[in-house]
Amino acid sequence: MTGDGCVLCGRAGALAHADPGWLLRTGRWGVSVHPAIPAPGWVAVQTLRHTEGLAGLDGAEAGELGPLLARLSAAVTRVTGSERVYTYSLGEGSPHTHVLLGPPQRDLRGAAFITGLLRRDASLADEAAALRVARDLADALAAGNTPTT
Ligand SMILES: [Zn+2]
Repeated sequence: MTGDGCVLCGRAGALAHADPGWLLRTGRWGVSVHPAIPAPGWVAVQTLRHTEGLAGLDGAEAGELGPLLARLSAAVTRVTGSERVYTYSLGEGSPHTHVLLGPPQRDLRGAAFITGLLRRDASLADEAAALRVARDLADALAAGNTPTT
């Protein structure tokens, strides 16, 4: 398994250059804004090394993923006020392991929302709001806030 030509490996390589799209990184995972559509509150969680799917994670990557998703989900709720935080991971656009996470929008939920997101429906995109929320999320994550349970 190699990351040659992999778009998400390319993004992982940009970490060292402080790409403003990155909200957080651990030794094994990186969190950036949704790579395909600027939907406010939507982020992508990806492995820093090339892996293809959850079955390809090593023990340390797998061990970090649950707490990271919980932390991100809590931050999205805190920043956006959304009680629901959706996650999905298809791997059709890129085989590199990544999980997309974010809130539905007020009037569009469930399958209707996810279908719109997958179709890159322009009505879900808001570049300015997405950037503002991304900064707030980065601040919340940097503050080390974690779920209280
Ligand atoms: Zn890759």
